[in-house]
Amino acid sequence: MIINADGKVAGNFEKVFSFDDTLLVPNYSDIESRQEVDIGNNLGPHQLNIPIISSPMDTVTEEQMVRTMAKNGGLGVIHRYNTIDDQQRMIELLRREMEDVAVAVGVSGDFKERALACVASGATVLCVDIAHGHHILMERALKTLKDRYPNTHLMAGNVATLEAFNDLADWGADSIKVGIGGGSICSTRIQTGHGMPTLQSVLECAKSDRDVKLIADGGIKTSGDITKALAAGADFVMLGSLLAGTDESPGDVYTSQKGNKYKVYRGMASREAQIDWRGTVSSLEGISTTIPYKGSVEKILRELVRGIKSGFSYSGARSIEELHAKARFIEQTSAGQVESSTHILRS
Ligand code: IMP
Repeated sequence: MIINADGKVAGNFEKVFSFDDTLLVPNYSDIESRQEVDIGNNLGPHQLNIPIISSPMDTVTEEQMVRTMAKNGGLGVIHRYNTIDDQQRMIELLRREMEDVAVAVGVSGDFKERALACVASGATVLCVDIAHGHHILMERALKTLKDRYPNTHLMAGNVATLEAFNDLADWGADSIKVGIGGGSICSTRIQTGHGMPTLQSVLECAKSDRDVKLIADGGIKTSGDITKALAAGADFVMLGSLLAGTDESPGDVYTSQKGNKYKVYRGMASREAQIDWRGTVSSLEGISTTIPYKGSVEKILRELVRGIKSGFSYSGARSIEELHAKARFIEQTSAGQVESSTHILRS
């Protein structure tokens, strides 16, 4: 239920679901091997073999991540928290190796110069990446960029509602990132009281009649969550924490006194990231933390793809389109959530 400040009911959700509230119901399946399942999708003219995009964050995506994501059929979006020269240099270098390179830009400050530099260096996707995408600055930015670069795919976000999704589509977005406040390093909901469970946002935005791609972003922890996001109507998922802490993510590996290895993973609105990139702190909506070092991201992608394809097989779906048509969700109780975990490990 959506309740206005005057107490009146303004809209109705029977329930609001996050990933762990739900399960997909197994369907009859005639899929005999995971190889029959194709999880590829088109991002505008760009064909991806896996529906996974790495987050434009400074502890997730720079050159190495872009390269490995592309090699494995996905896409990496270079973050915008660097100098225009650095971003341009990365794009030029990567464009010699691959067809599609994506970057992020903002909606104010140097965003027009940055977008121009990115497109001039060969970027084929521009990601307009801000925390609250249903915003007048996003409207102005999308209209300007669409007008200047009509042949460049415009990814934009983040949004949480169908109204926002449709507005961004009408302002010129070709794909839209959906999810507010769900990221593993995100404190938006704590700081501002705003947000919507990512799965619910996806279920809502998937009702749109606009011809744009939906990217579920924030709070995806497992291949099961990826399958649920796709089943709810997403075309792609964007991942931060699942791909951070790897060889390909930027940053050093630290070793503790006990010999455990770590890397830093941080929100772009964390104190540490803001100080590093602009020297001051404004609204704090993220945290910085260390996570265990995971080795190669290729291994992680392989495991995720195996899990997603098995998920498709349980739904009897050979493609994302078929999954959208066939998937059936049920709500699970808290006892169901316990049963769904590997509960022998609970003490
Ligand atoms: P994760 O996959 O759950 O770790 O979430 C990653 C997503 O969190 C990114 O793709 C962004 O949409 C979002 N994000 C990144 N930095 C911040 C932040 O500082 N605060 C809130 N959300 C963030």
